[in-house]
Amino acid sequence: MKTIYLDNNATTPVAPEVLEEMFPYLRDYYGNPSSMYGIARRSAEKIKESRGRLAALLGVLPEEIVFTSCGTESDSTAVWAAIRAYPSKRHLITSRVEHSAIKNLYEYLGHNGYRVTFVPVDAGGGIDLDFLYDHLSEDTAVVSLMWANNETGVMFPVEEIAREVNRRGIVFHTDAVQAVGKIPMEIDRTAIDMLSLSGHKLHAPKGVGALYVRKGTKFMPFLIGGHQEGNRRGGTENVASIVALGKAAECAARHLDEENGRVRELRDRLEAGILAAVPHAAVNGDREHRLPNTTNISFEYIEGESILLMMDELGICASSGSACTSGSLEPSHVLRAMGVPYTAAHGSVRFSLSIYNTAEEIAFVIENLPPIIERLRHMSPFWKAAVSG
Ligand code: PLP
Repeated sequence: MKTIYLDNNATTPVAPEVLEEMFPYLRDYYGNPSSMYGIARRSAEKIKESRGRLAALLGVLPEEIVFTSCGTESDSTAVWAAIRAYPSKRHLITSRVEHSAIKNLYEYLGHNGYRVTFVPVDAGGGIDLDFLYDHLSEDTAVVSLMWANNETGVMFPVEEIAREVNRRGIVFHTDAVQAVGKIPMEIDRTAIDMLSLSGHKLHAPKGVGALYVRKGTKFMPFLIGGHQEGNRRGGTENVASIVALGKAAECAARHLDEENGRVRELRDRLEAGILAAVPHAAVNGDREHRLPNTTNISFEYIEGESILLMMDELGICASSGSACTSGSLEPSHVLRAMGVPYTAAHGSVRFSLSIYNTAEEIAFVIENLPPIIERLRHMSPFWKAAVSG
């Protein structure tokens, strides 16, 4: 059975050219980049090239890139750097729809001496800018907002927000894990101080990420240790994965038009096809300010998990907005923050595409998903109650 992979916001397949580029740095050039001999110098030079490639994708200087182990580490590094740089400031701002990498860190800090503001979003997932700006104060150490939401794809106007936050002398960090490689960026023209990204969301392997730190930003390393990454992140470099991230960045820059053209069209076709065939289905989130590859659709009165299991039998991979925790199905905090009713939030499915998806795959899903929904609804007491009364 062929796999139809529509879960690229969870992780992406490693691109063949990325695999090829990283392989020699596992097999042949395994030297520690801090050492003096040839195979080590070669890996150090390649890291330099990778830094340049990633910097080019973001529109920043190579020395503003710090390689890390993942998006989560980048997020933590940024927030801790800001609060350590301004120890007297005890207030932090983020949104209600962040990934757990920021959400749980902020909740932790909220229980450990910080005042934390979670900015609400509207029904489309858009941030309440007035609320945000009203809560900025002299005491605010950092504002951290995601560029694009991993569940809905909805984008916040982070460039505009960064200007306003920066104007008040407050550090602005963005979790751009879902945005990098999907939309064009020229970060050096913005007021963004720090930006997180993750390799496995852009066809590099898991276990490598990066943090952009604007030149002049007060910074303290999160991992204190060796002199690597210009004393900004201790630990021997994950050379092969950094090489992979550099190559993936180069490929992403080349594919930006395709991502915003062909991939967007496929996503729109999938969405329109499903909505036309399935009653009581609706897209979650603002459809205009959204990543080109993501759609989050609620199928009322059934469970997202059941849909995923039945799609899996056909080789279709997607993800749902609810997580099975300790036996009870909790709908996603993102959809709840948007006010999506429980009956719809429970039945939400996220489809996230990549350049590797084809029109045939999308046609297959459009043909095979509606009968799945119908079968599940016939088994659902909630659906029966809804249609009968
Ligand atoms: N931030 C966002 C928006 C994400 O979607 C993810 C991963 O899903 C992360 C952070 C964490 O990235 P990583 O898995 O590399 O730690």
